[in-house]
Amino acid sequence: LPAAAPRAGFLGRLLGRGEERVVTRRALDDDMLESLEELLITADMGVETAMRVTANMAEGRMGKRLSSQEIKELLAHEIARIMEPVARPMPIYAKRPQVVLVVGVNGSGKTTTIGKLASQFKAAGKSVVIAAGDTFRAAAVEQLQIWGDRAGVPVLTAPEGSDPASLAFDAMTKAEADGADLLMIDTAGRLQNRADLMEELSKIVRVIRKKDPDAPHNTLLVLDATTGQNALSQVEIFQKLADVSGLVMTKLDGTARGGVLVALADKFGLPIHAIGVGEQIDDLAPFDPEEFAAALTG
Ligand code: GDP
Repeated sequence: LPAAAPRAGFLGRLLGRGEERVVTRRALDDDMLESLEELLITADMGVETAMRVTANMAEGRMGKRLSSQEIKELLAHEIARIMEPVARPMPIYAKRPQVVLVVGVNGSGKTTTIGKLASQFKAAGKSVVIAAGDTFRAAAVEQLQIWGDRAGVPVLTAPEGSDPASLAFDAMTKAEADGADLLMIDTAGRLQNRADLMEELSKIVRVIRKKDPDAPHNTLLVLDATTGQNALSQVEIFQKLADVSGLVMTKLDGTARGGVLVALADKFGLPIHAIGVGEQIDDLAPFDPEEFAAALTG
């Protein structure tokens, strides 16, 4: 997945590149650790996580002469260790329809991610129905329809301004009647009025539980990786609004801020189901901790 590589390479600035990299050997000391910590913070890893990563890496190695390459590999190893437990694809249940509620702020990539996921599920032989639950944004509904067409998946819509919960209920009815494997429900992402949004989301959940007490089976929070540390506060906010079960990180193509994923994993431990690596339908990849860590420290 070359496209999945965050454009980081930030260690190069400290450790030198190319030939220089191989010949540089320095004793690991406090100054060195501090510089590494700063670089990790620059990549949006957050202070606590950066300190943990460098401390773990330095354990038993203070005063040792390490090459730049060795330092990179050690850091990558520590980062991958934090990421491994959260690298988990979205669980698929025998339940039909499996209801996937998709939440996140506007612009985070919800619509795009729903389209990409629908396409992947369909390619895996699943039948999918999408509900355009952000009924307040006509443009969002249109976009979702475009993605539904691309993925070859029906998109249920309701008139602008109508109740998203009643759309969700109708979508459940249709998904059941069609014997669909998955129902993906888009939701509004207006954080300006959190009380309204909470009411809206909890009403959707209430209504679909009338049909299936276990629904939604997954609540995916879509986060834009380019927002850096802001992603952390979005997780906190959405955990209060909904029962978030997993994350999709979008826009990891071409960001140097991928370090926020490490902070997220360290702080919340929520599974990262997939990463968005572009604007096209196939630009959704499984999250690979080793590859990610290598790219981040590259
Ligand atoms: P929504 O408002 O949350 O539904 O967000 P959209 O799905 O409409 O996405 C907002 C913008 O981000 C669009 O221009 C998308 O093409 C873009 N986008 C979404 N995911 C990715 C991604 O993984 N990489 C890149 N480069 N752009 C993305």
